Amino acid sequence: MKEESGPIGQLGLFDETHIIGAGISGLLMGYYLKKNGHSVKIFEKQSHIGGKIRTIKGDLGFAETAANAVFTNEDAIDLFQELKISPVKSTVKLKRLLQRTSTLKSFPFLVWEIPFIILSLFKRLPKDMDKISIYEFFKPLLGKRASYEVLSSVFGGIYATDAKTLSFRSVFKQKFNSVTYFGFIRELIKQRKARRHKPESVSFSGGMSDLIQALREKLKDNIVCDTNASIQSNVNTIICTDAHDASKVVGELLPKISEELLKISYSPVISTTMILKTPVSKLEGAFGALFSPVSPVKCAGILNNSAIFPERTVDPNKRSYTFIHLGESYSEQDAFQDLKKIEPSTDWQKSLEEKFVTNWQRGIPLYDQQRSESIKKIRSLFHGRPKGIVLFGNYVDGISIREMISMAKEFASKSPKVISS
Ligand SMILES: Cc1cc2nc3c(=O)[nH]c(=O)nc-3n(C[C@H](O)[C@H](O)[C@H](O)COP(=O)(O)OP(=O)(O)OC[C@H]3O[C@@H](n4cnc5c(N)ncnc54)[C@H](O)[C@@H]3O)c2cc1C
Repeated sequence: MKEESGPIGQLGLFDETHIIGAGISGLLMGYYLKKNGHSVKIFEKQSHIGGKIRTIKGDLGFAETAANAVFTNEDAIDLFQELKISPVKSTVKLKRLLQRTSTLKSFPFLVWEIPFIILSLFKRLPKDMDKISIYEFFKPLLGKRASYEVLSSVFGGIYATDAKTLSFRSVFKQKFNSVTYFGFIRELIKQRKARRHKPESVSFSGGMSDLIQALREKLKDNIVCDTNASIQSNVNTIICTDAHDASKVVGELLPKISEELLKISYSPVISTTMILKTPVSKLEGAFGALFSPVSPVKCAGILNNSAIFPERTVDPNKRSYTFIHLGESYSEQDAFQDLKKIEPSTDWQKSLEEKFVTNWQRGIPLYDQQRSESIKKIRSLFHGRPKGIVLFGNYVDGISIREMISMAKEFASKSPKVISS
């Protein structure tokens, strides 16, 4: 049987649809439903829309509070055209660096690991892909150490969790028919080649806030801010908040679902953007660097904003870097110490010109086995329930904006609208 995916629940035959939360998931859902002829109202408890996504403008450049870019698919490109916003493409051919223990490298594997990997290509794939972590899946191919160190860094920046916790199915949702790792890699390459669209990282001239503002324009008569919304009878309600806020919203009405939503864990995320006088020479020409859990560098990754989107700094001689830390505390001193570990000879304190810090307690949902089980259980609890309540947001079936664009678009296209007599 095909696994269910996308938003949980279905719309009922009510005239109006309320959306709770005006983060990117709520705005996308509102946009596509309105486009398909639904009557929507979006409620946001804060005084601003966009949820976690906001571009902060400083004197020397700007910083994003959450998403830095959209990794595109065809639906994202169509959306930008409909909204009449021109994406700014990230610089092509930048190096991707990774530090496993002490050195930043473009190629993450150690020389002596290569023969092991080649010999392991014809090993059989693990049987139950639905129940294992990324680490367990790749361990027979890459070995224990490389699976943990390389994959934790590669996926940690997106899914905020290490390879031992991240479930395989969170990353690879598609069906595979191969028996060996060799076949698996061949299938992956084939799937990639079959894509009509070549994905790119894009942002906008005014940063990610441009996307939020463009959605606001389309929905300006439909958004109500400063309202802590709840479920009303005789209207559809789509809850587009994080899982813990969704738990409060469904509360006593759906206690088992509320309980299950609370089991979904979040990683705190601190995003620190610094504008420096001095470039970090080891990061020149690189998109950024990822750091494994065993590397001495504390943060999970550094984005080299000036290389990715050169227009993010006002002065081309200055450099903008974003440090992403998955945890409770990451101070200015931590950032300087991390830079010192990469380049000890520079006095980084003296180099600092401007700084922006955003601290999210519930930054990114953990895509671990617990989340998969809770989502499965919530989907089963929704079966047989009257229609009219829907759950959507980045904990449901994908963290990235492009996944949310596709899910909201598909959901709206399949949702019947009521024609009032
Ligand atoms: C540091 C960081 C970097 C990231 N980088 C990227 C990236 O480069 N690319 C990418 O694609 N993704 C990225 N992401 C992920 C992406 O930013 C998030 O998945 C997305 O912003 C989450 O949107 P959302 O609408 O699900 O939730 P939120 O943004 O949390 O919005 C939920 C909204 O619901 C409101 N709300 C809650 N309860 C109620 C209530 N009762 N009534 C009314 N309103 C309510 C909240 O106030 C909030 O505005 C990043 C995330 C972080 C934290």
